Parts: sequence; structure tokens; C-alpha cells
Amino acid sequence: MGKVILDGVTKRYADVTAVDDMNLEIEDGEFVTLVGPSGCGKSTTLETIAGLTLPSEGTITIADRDVTNLPPKDRGIAMVFQNIALFPHMDVYENISFGLRLRDYPKDEIERRVERATDIVQLEGMLERMPDELSGGQRQRVAIARAIVREPEVFLMDEPLANLDAKLRVHMRTELQRLHKELDTTIIYVTHDQAEAMTMSDRIAVIDGGQLQQIAPPLVCYNEPANLFVAGFIGSPSMNFVEGEVTATGLTTPNFDVDFDPGQLPGVAEGDHLTLGVRPEDVYLDHTGGDISNPTQPIPARTDVLEPMGDEIFVYLLTGEAADTSMEGDPAGAENQLLMSIDPSSDIESEEDVEVVLDRERVHLFDTQSGDAISHTLDFAAVEPGTRETEREAEGDD
Ligand code: ADP
Repeated sequence: MGKVILDGVTKRYADVTAVDDMNLEIEDGEFVTLVGPSGCGKSTTLETIAGLTLPSEGTITIADRDVTNLPPKDRGIAMVFQNIALFPHMDVYENISFGLRLRDYPKDEIERRVERATDIVQLEGMLERMPDELSGGQRQRVAIARAIVREPEVFLMDEPLANLDAKLRVHMRTELQRLHKELDTTIIYVTHDQAEAMTMSDRIAVIDGGQLQQIAPPLVCYNEPANLFVAGFIGSPSMNFVEGEVTATGLTTPNFDVDFDPGQLPGVAEGDHLTLGVRPEDVYLDHTGGDISNPTQPIPARTDVLEPMGDEIFVYLLTGEAADTSMEGDPAGAENQLLMSIDPSSDIESEEDVEVVLDRERVHLFDTQSGDAISHTLDFAAVEPGTRETEREAEGDD
């Protein structure tokens, strides 16, 4: 059925490699979202699957057929784009059935398919309306119904909600999930909006610079990002990053130290440059950190800007020199900032001296140079003074 395989797909334009050796295996019935910043190659990847552009290298298989060189109409796909081009002089029924009428489908078959599609996207009773009598969301539903009547093996959707207002976009997200459940068909969806990707997909494929960074269920990308790019792209507000150097007893950064036994991390040695990553919700005020079983040692900080969001408060913390009010000048660069999300009932104020802790179970370490993830936890014992030598001796004895 609608399984899609991209094997080494590369697309080069004169001076750009838009897609670089893309390998993807999308299961039949799966909802996979291609996500990444503007210009990362999402649309080009989708266009190679659709057959709107031919790859420079690699092969594409849809439902066990090599479609690499087939025209779009023979691939068993249907596309929904950001710009919904409905025929203005045709009513909803005529717009939805246009492709079927063009292909001379029998009248009763067309009626059956249109009825099913309008039922799924909830456009019943609107079949005689003209496009200018529809809202943006209804027009988008017509476009989706037009794709549904084709009964494709695979739906390809390129930012279909981008032109809708924020409220409608959130509503359409739920509709698309419902649609996916009802149709039980493969959907490949492109968006630059990580929230959209997180909420709808079975798996998300994070792309940067034409290259696949990680493909995994949304929460795996969130909790176990493969590298610095994924860690920074998935999640809003973004993960905090602090660069540091490995010592015998942990990581030393310009602003604070975090102790752990580097010997527990394979391939990590003293002097290595690592980047510590921690999400705002995994930073706690020391006195409330009692909820977490394994906090880091307290980090002195000074509260700066507060952003009350209603359900949480974002607190911008200054650490290291920036927290020290006796320092001259304004050393508050991004490298000294740590964003913390706390309970809205907190009576915290700005310019307060506090101590914060990080949840060791949720601290990430990345190789600063390659960006690759090394660990998604520091939930292991710190080095007790003298222990490492003892351990080494013990290992030597074996
Ligand atoms: P995205 O969908 O992630 O925003 P695209 O796939 O549209 O990114 O583009 C990826 C890269 O390929 C960009 O640098 C873009 O400028 C380039 N590109 C896309 N289409 C063409 C084209 N027809 N000719 C030349 N360069 C292109």
C-alpha cells in the first residue's frame, strides 16, 4: 500500500544542493511531517515525491513501485498546497469533482466520492456555494476534499494551513488528525512550524541544510534530540545552551559548574568541549526543586525580565558575572542567560537574587563541535573525591 521510500535522494540546482542524500522510509498509513527552517529543503523533498521535480540522484518508491521518473498523475498521490487555487466560477461540488470529471469517471462514482469527501471534511450543505462565499478554512477544506476524491495512496501537503489565521490553524490541526484517522492513508506534511509538527504527526523528520537530522516520534525528538540543531529547533521557547569544558569532576562553564563523573560517558575525556542543554521547564528555583529526585548543585542567579504567560511564568535569569551587581558595565550577553519556566503562583520578582537547580534526569550534553548528542541525562553519580583513581586501579586489576 502507501509506503514511501526515499533512497539517497539528492536535488541540486546550479549553485545549491536543496536536498542532500535524503533517506526516508515512511510506513503505509503513517503521518510524517517534514519540518525545518525556511530554505532547508522540505518543499523540494516533497516535490520529488510528487514528481513535480526530478531528483539529481536517488530513487523514490511509492507502494512498492519505483516512481522516480513517473509523471505526478501516475504516482498515486494527491497534493494540497498553501495557496488554495479554487476555480472561482465553479461551485464547491464542481471544484471538488473537477479532476474526476476531467478523467471521465461515471456520474454515480463521482457522486459517491464527493459525498464521502464532503462528509469527511464536513462541508455538507455547502456544495452549491461559490468560493467567494466561503471562509478561508472552508476553502481549505474544499481543497482537501478535492484531494480525497482522488483516493490516493499518499497525501502530500505543503504548508496547507500557513495562510489561515492562528485560531483556525489550531482548529484545522485537529481536523487533519481526524482526517488521517478516518482515511487511514499515508500523509506527508511539510511545515516550518514545529508546534504543528509536534501535535499532528506519528513521526517528524527534522531537516536542516537539505539533510535529515532526525526522524522519530515527536516526543523522542523533544526528549532525545539527536543533535544541537534538533534540540534548538524543537520546543518553544528553545532549549538553553551553555558551552563548557570537561574536567575530572564534571563540566565547567563560564557561569556555573555541573558535577558528574565524565568516566560514565563513553568517548568523553577531560578537556573536551561540550554544550550543556536544558529546557526552561527543567530549571527550578532551588526551594521548589524538591519535586525532582536528582537536582544539580545550586546555581546562583539573578532574575531579569519576567514574562507571565498565564499558565506559567518565563523568568530570564542572569548567571555568572551577569548576576553579580557589583560588576561594572553590562555583561548580560546571551551566554549568561538562562530561561526558566515556573509555576504562575510564584511571587518571584525581577532583580531578585535566587539559586536555581537543573533536573539532572533531563540535562543534555552535546559535542560542541559536531553538535551530536552525547547524553540526555546526568542522572548518574558525581565523582566522589578519590573514587576515579580507585576505579581505574580496580579496572587495571581485572
Ligand atoms: P523549504 O521548503 O524548506 O523552505 P525549499 O525546498 O523550497 O526549502 O528550498 C531549498 C533550497 O533550494 C533553497 O535554498 C532554495 O532557494 C533552493 N531552491 C528551491 N527551488 C529552486 C529552484 N527551482 N531553483 C534554484 N534553487 C531552488
